[in-house]
Amino acid sequence: MTQHQTRAQRLAAPLARDVVRELAVEHGGCLRPVQLRRTDIETGRAEQVLVPCGHTLAAVCPSCAERNRTLRAAQCREGWHLDHEPIVQADEADDEQRMWVEMRSDVQRQRDEADAAGQDTAWQDTAEDDAVIGELDEQIARSGMRGNVLPSRPARRHRSTRRRQDAPDLPRRKVAPTTIGKTYASADGKTFRPSLFITLTCPSYGRVGTDGTPANPDAYDYMRAARDALHFAALFDRFVQNLRRFLGHDVQYFAAVEPQRRLAPHIHIAMRGTLSRTELRQVLAATYHQVWWPPTGTVKHDDGNLPVWHEASGNYLDPATGEVLPTWDQALDAIGDQDEPLHVARFGQRFDAQGVIAGSEDANRCIRYLTKYLTKQVADCHQAGTDAQRAHMERLADALRYEPCSPTCANWLRYGVQPKNSRAGLRPGQCKGKAHRREHLGYAGRRVLVSRKWSGKTLADHRADRRTWLLETLGLPATDPARYTWEPVTPGDPDHMPNVQRLLHVVADRQRWHAALALARARASGQATPELSATGQAA
Ligand SMILES: [Zn+2]
Ligand SMILES: [Zn+2]
Repeated sequence: MTQHQTRAQRLAAPLARDVVRELAVEHGGCLRPVQLRRTDIETGRAEQVLVPCGHTLAAVCPSCAERNRTLRAAQCREGWHLDHEPIVQADEADDEQRMWVEMRSDVQRQRDEADAAGQDTAWQDTAEDDAVIGELDEQIARSGMRGNVLPSRPARRHRSTRRRQDAPDLPRRKVAPTTIGKTYASADGKTFRPSLFITLTCPSYGRVGTDGTPANPDAYDYMRAARDALHFAALFDRFVQNLRRFLGHDVQYFAAVEPQRRLAPHIHIAMRGTLSRTELRQVLAATYHQVWWPPTGTVKHDDGNLPVWHEASGNYLDPATGEVLPTWDQALDAIGDQDEPLHVARFGQRFDAQGVIAGSEDANRCIRYLTKYLTKQVADCHQAGTDAQRAHMERLADALRYEPCSPTCANWLRYGVQPKNSRAGLRPGQCKGKAHRREHLGYAGRRVLVSRKWSGKTLADHRADRRTWLLETLGLPATDPARYTWEPVTPGDPDHMPNVQRLLHVVADRQRWHAALALARARASGQATPELSATGQAA
């Protein structure tokens, strides 16, 4: 029976493709599955396997983002109240890592031989070797190895360790290699290990209303807000170092960085072990991070007067005089003993700290709080809804536009300094650094900061735990990884599936294994159920 439909009626009907997407999300399936071909080495049979994309932002893939958030919550829960020292074993080095260390050995020998022969100014330039050594050390770190091959040489610029007179001294203890807090015994003989949930904020930049916008925008210190956001991760690092020295053990944490409504970052920290509010206040008062960068007080080259790149020498020149601008190292050397740092970052006076007992409803609430915003970009945590909020965000973005984000930032040219590792095409105000982008609000670091001995497991380990649990619940044998080969399926391949087709498979797979899981659970709880025939792969 067909009925005539008006154009409006036809347009109002849901689009089949959209429904597929909605169903995939509803069933917790990935929206951008990657297609792999899995071949059984013994039988030669090839199968299509759809692997979730694993994106952490809900705007890109809601299901993967939610799975990632759940994993983070599990990681947080497991490490928080650990009552034994986690075993952290180093992996064996892979071929790439070996290669970097071998190259590093060669340069070191060359460098030391030149040194011994006193050839510093002759054919061998040790400064160049040092540059190569620096680059290799970076590669070594990038390839996933920890620590330095050699302890770093004493820095040329010692002032960065100069203590500030306006910060109180902190009593220091030798840090013992334990990661677990103290145990306390209750009256009935039970032992418990209290932990702490801490929230640290940035200082005030001017009074703000409940909507997060300044009462007086002209008096709000946007420059300070921008700089504090840029150096927030370094400040947190300092805090942890101080905490460890103060408490005398290897304090472990799981922390999440988020913006407050006023768009300044704050950090929620689940910490193993505890300290009093007074002690915490003491550590905070002694915690600061000094940024020893060249001064940015005077704009030397604005848009009409930009430095020009000189290809032959690889330098930026003053457009008026043709003089070479000071390099990054020269600019740092020019900072004198009497100069002040460009910026001193500190936490605000306001902080929050509450004791939490393992497994309590309080602990669960804190974990939910910690992981609440992880599926969103920093700037999306608080959507600007009013004109005042939009204007506030705009002013912060303006302040971040010309603020140097790192030694390599293009903005240094504006202040008459060549950025570190200068190259052609740099333009102030157009640095590609994440910190300048609106969605990051000045904070370009990682959203979740987890210390190495938190749970003793990586996120991949927690994922594997979940998989093992699933297979056991479903009563499926673990697949033998040596039995299969895997290859990506590319659009040119005859068995390649377009994304909509993949989504149909995702929906079907999810439905099948949700049913299998429900059956397995019912069976485990002792209810009579029909026999489960599980042939599907657990995702
Ligand atoms: Zn996905
Ligand atoms: Zn930058």
